[in-house]
Amino acid sequence: MKEVIDEKKSTGFIVMGGDSDNKIMNLRNLIRDFTRRRNWEPYHNPKDLALSISIEAAELLEVMQWREHNIEKLLTYPDFLPRVQEELADVMIYCISLANVLDLDISDMVRKKVSRNEEKYPVGKSL
Ligand SMILES: [Mg+2]
Repeated sequence: MKEVIDEKKSTGFIVMGGDSDNKIMNLRNLIRDFTRRRNWEPYHNPKDLALSISIEAAELLEVMQWREHNIEKLLTYPDFLPRVQEELADVMIYCISLANVLDLDISDMVRKKVSRNEEKYPVGKSL
C-alpha cells in the first residue's frame, strides 16, 4: 500500500497490481498464443528477442530517416502514421515477448523504473 501512496505522490497516478490485474495481461496472452500456435517458441530466446527489439526499433527510425523532425511536417506524409504504428507495434510485441519468456511483470518493472527516474530527475530541477 505504501508503494501506491508514494506513486500517487510522485506521478499523480495510482496504478495498482501487476500485469495480471490489467489489460497488459490480455496482450501478453494474445502474443503468447500467437507464438505457440506457430511453434515459434524455440526461436524466442532472450538473445534473439532482444536483437529483434533493436531491429524493429531501427525500422521505426527508418520511417523518420531523411524527413523533417517537425511533427506538423511529418504528419503531412500520408504513410507516416501507419508506418510508425506498424513498427512501434513490432517493437512492443518483441518487448512483451521478452517479458513473457523471462516471466517479467511489465507493470511492476515500469512502475519501479518511473519511480527511480522520479528520484533521478526531480521535478524541481527540470528546465
Ligand atoms: Mg517491422
